[in-house]
Amino acid sequence: MATHEELRAWDNAHVWHPFAPMQEFRADDTPIIRSAEGFELTDVEGRRYLDGHSSLWCNVHGHRVPEMDQAIRDQLDRVGHSTLLGLSSEVSIELAKQLVDRTPEGLNQVFYSDSGATSVEVALKMAYQYHRQKPGGAEPRDLFVSVAGAYHGDTIGSVSLGGMDIFHATYRDLLFQKLTVPSPVTFRVPDGHDAESWLAHCDAELEKTIVGNADRIAAVVVEPLVQGAAGILVHPEGYLRRVRELTQKHGVLLIADEVAVGFGRTGTMFACDQENVRPDLMCLAKGLTGGYLPLAATLTTDEISEAFLDVPWAGKTFFHGHTYTGNPLGCAAALASLELIDRNDVVGNGRAIGARLADRLTDFAARCTCVGEIRQKGVMCGIELVSEGDSREPFAADKRVGHQVTLAARRRGAVIRPLGDVIVLMPAPAMPVELVDRLCDITFESIEEVVARFT
Ligand SMILES: *Cc1c(COP(=O)(O)O)cnc(C)c1O
Repeated sequence: MATHEELRAWDNAHVWHPFAPMQEFRADDTPIIRSAEGFELTDVEGRRYLDGHSSLWCNVHGHRVPEMDQAIRDQLDRVGHSTLLGLSSEVSIELAKQLVDRTPEGLNQVFYSDSGATSVEVALKMAYQYHRQKPGGAEPRDLFVSVAGAYHGDTIGSVSLGGMDIFHATYRDLLFQKLTVPSPVTFRVPDGHDAESWLAHCDAELEKTIVGNADRIAAVVVEPLVQGAAGILVHPEGYLRRVRELTQKHGVLLIADEVAVGFGRTGTMFACDQENVRPDLMCLAKGLTGGYLPLAATLTTDEISEAFLDVPWAGKTFFHGHTYTGNPLGCAAALASLELIDRNDVVGNGRAIGARLADRLTDFAARCTCVGEIRQKGVMCGIELVSEGDSREPFAADKRVGHQVTLAARRRGAVIRPLGDVIVLMPAPAMPVELVDRLCDITFESIEEVVARFT
């Protein structure tokens, strides 16, 4: 086996890491993970790290969960992969049935793909094509609406919806046109507004955008309840329901991107459940396989799928697919994960540790002057660090305060990942409360260590 030094050198020479400023990344001596157990990752030198971001927001039950591992091994003994192009597969059918049973009533059709981004691409193309083929006559529509600061993935269609300049601005000329509605969050409101007037403005803009362009809008795309990558921005109660009401009233489709929030992250199985919303299309990925394998699904209604039915030569087919669409190993993992979610009441545990996190975060915010805002829904937490709590003034970007906090946490034995200077805690919904406490201890000590350097 290669030594740590060899692996480090080869990693630096050959592996281009996602979302990484590679020049600095190579200097960081990032842990090289070899194995894991429960909620801890172990690197090749034997150091252990609490998995504080659930392996980037996807792990649900921990690592090396015996039931998960066994389900995948059992599937390996049957078949690793067979295609859904021209064939069906046993596990993909069983999983589709389970997903339909658990998602909001009426989402009866499951289209598989491989990642959150592709599940969004599928939803966009379905919505676009639906309007050209829908009963009552074609009505081509050329616009999508998304929320300011949205993140829906990194393929070009998903990037077109995106509103995070740091990720998306470079590609502007490649992207399709969209309309943006303001994000209903109040930590930093534009001059001339207070929180209340800003939320009223967001609501008016939402309505104006939909009403004024209803005949051109294919769909409104939202991250239900929480805009994750924008910094764990929590929408006010009722916003999602309001988007549903307006889209429904004006004949516009609603795409709910539950990639981050699905599978118990916000206190319910799906975020849409909390506002009794049934979107027209729903995107699932990250937690779908319990965080084990890349599998995604786009669910939609019979009404939408029926617009694609006709004789083959009518050209109404949905011409989309990926080689590994509905991969059986991924489906087997997803089935095992759903069973464990039920058996262990993982959603209930997520709510319980969410409550614990809320207590710990409130307590910390009261004693640390560099906490600008705590944002939380279920196990999704963002701690926005500012140079002085009351001023809401960010730290200078070149201090990389968020990044420094993650390095300090790593030395204390936890991996977390910031979004700028928002420290994100995202424990797996099944994490036991003692480990959540340890994650809080490590994070708070790390923040205190780093801000002491800069204030
Ligand atoms: C992570 C994420 C995506 C993209 O998922 P990938 O599997 O990384 O392509 C899409 N939407 C939301 C809301 C996400 O958080």
